[in-house]
Amino acid sequence: ILTEMDGFDSREGVIVLAATNRADVLDAALLRPGRFDRRVVVQRPDRAGRAAILAVHTKNVPLAPDVSLERIAAETPGLVGAELRNLVNEAALLAARKGASAVRPEDFGEAMEKITLGPARSILLNAADRERTACHEAGHTLLALLVPGSDPVHRVSIVPRGMALGVTYQLPVDDRTSYAEDYLRARITSTLGGRAAEQLVYGVVTTGAENDLQQVTEIARQMVLRGGMSKKLGPSSFVAPRDEG
Ligand code: ZN
Repeated sequence: ILTEMDGFDSREGVIVLAATNRADVLDAALLRPGRFDRRVVVQRPDRAGRAAILAVHTKNVPLAPDVSLERIAAETPGLVGAELRNLVNEAALLAARKGASAVRPEDFGEAMEKITLGPARSILLNAADRERTACHEAGHTLLALLVPGSDPVHRVSIVPRGMALGVTYQLPVDDRTSYAEDYLRARITSTLGGRAAEQLVYGVVTTGAENDLQQVTEIARQMVLRGGMSKKLGPSSFVAPRDEG
């Protein structure tokens, strides 16, 4: 490919475009002047971008009058175009399955849960398990409400989906581009709230908090390794510098 690219005469007017998610592992020879020497970084869409993408994908979808694409855009930070299209498709399917003539806001909410957690499972939980799940989710919810700086609680559910028996949705007020230490600590606190509630009410913990523990470990690890937020290790970065172009 390098020989081919070097072979173009500058008068031939040939422009070679390529896309990658891993610019960091490209051979430097590919990026020399005359080869792929311009880089255009495409970020995930921001809130306005997501609203515009949703407008494109809902053009031929009958929406109920109370559907707000602005609101859906606000509720979907981090989603890219393909995922938003999938969200619209899932919501339309759910509405069609119910025999509705238009897609309503709750269809979008349900589609979002289905995409992030998997379809609802019709397993029959006994009353004790349901109560324990409710207690666990209440722990998340309470701490998210009480710890200052937490993302607002949006929805709490004990409908089993995928591997999860319940879920507490917190919604960021806005897209975040950087994270403050107190915000991350608040995230860790509310994520551990489910396990803490089980411990408080039942005196024992269960494996139900497995995913929560994975999340807090990852946040804490990033705080120390990338954010220099450990008092012991100090403001150092422990990851190889990444060339973000
Ligand atoms: Zn949990």
